Amino acid sequence: MIIVMRSGVSAEDVEAVRRRVVELGYQPHTIVGEFKTVVAAVGEERGNADLRLLEAMETVESVVPIQQPFKLASKETRVAPSEVRVNGIAVGGAKVVVMAGPCSVESEAQVLEVADAVKAAGASILRGGAFKPRTSPYAFQGLKEAGLKHLALARKHSGLPVVTEVLETESVELVAEYADILQIGARNIQNFTLLRRVGEMGKPVLLKRGMATTIQEFLLSAEYILSAGNPQVILCERGIRTFEQSTRFTLDLNAVPVLKKLSHLPVVVDPSHGTGHWDLVAPMAKAAVACGADGLIIEVHPRPEEALSDGPQSLKPTKFAQLMRELKPVAEAVGRGL
Ligand code: PEP
Ligand code: MN
Repeated sequence: MIIVMRSGVSAEDVEAVRRRVVELGYQPHTIVGEFKTVVAAVGEERGNADLRLLEAMETVESVVPIQQPFKLASKETRVAPSEVRVNGIAVGGAKVVVMAGPCSVESEAQVLEVADAVKAAGASILRGGAFKPRTSPYAFQGLKEAGLKHLALARKHSGLPVVTEVLETESVELVAEYADILQIGARNIQNFTLLRRVGEMGKPVLLKRGMATTIQEFLLSAEYILSAGNPQVILCERGIRTFEQSTRFTLDLNAVPVLKKLSHLPVVVDPSHGTGHWDLVAPMAKAAVACGADGLIIEVHPRPEEALSDGPQSLKPTKFAQLMRELKPVAEAVGRGL
């Protein structure tokens, strides 16, 4: 951290700041300029007091961080991209990984039908929600444990590993018995107790960005999972809230190269929630792969008009298969396989 002193402060004022820096566990180095004096505080920030506290001193103008507040998620800690392995599939490896399936698991027959269809089209991971976070308490809340059992059957039947959402700390163990990847939804991105809990599980986690979460907050949420001892975190951009009304959310594809610049973690994109309309899913999926996403998560339903959640943004299996064909040359153009 760099502590910038106000203009015209005395040598005693600088000394007082240096003393505070030492008390807080850092070594101070003073740089006296023609107009300003700054104190560089050197030391391990993790577990130590936050030096921004010094902005409360009247003689201090500002405290400027020079390192990222997220450490384990940062490229400062690990430069090489990390791969998250799920049943032999590497998310963050040479190939773009596609996860697909219904928003909600609705019945055994539905999830088996979708699993077959997405597998035939080339998806390598099956998605499906058994515990659903719904804006309205009157909306379908998911089949819960019965839904997990349907997913387990679809997994056995298709051989596809499963990603499914865990909504609360109480059900982490139950969901982990069935899921290959634990999904943390946009609405839980800052549920720190839940993040710590999935950090202790040692299973891959798909962490979805919140609709009003900055990239720094997103990476600090990933840091909760990493610092609990679980390195297997996949970041997911799924759209943010803006003033725009013509799409459900604004898919922030800037986030992909920004996350890649700041972090070694794999990044996937969800163009289904990011747009809210099935006809916008394919163009944004292609754009996501073009800008460097390591994977996609896409909602597919055999009869979207009958879906219990997110029908308007769900692709029919034929449209999904067509998208998979169209994605291949896009992936190849950016040096990836599909
Ligand atoms: C979902 O994947 O169905 C979902 C609820 O996503 P999000 O948390 O991104 O809204
Ligand atoms: Mn959904």
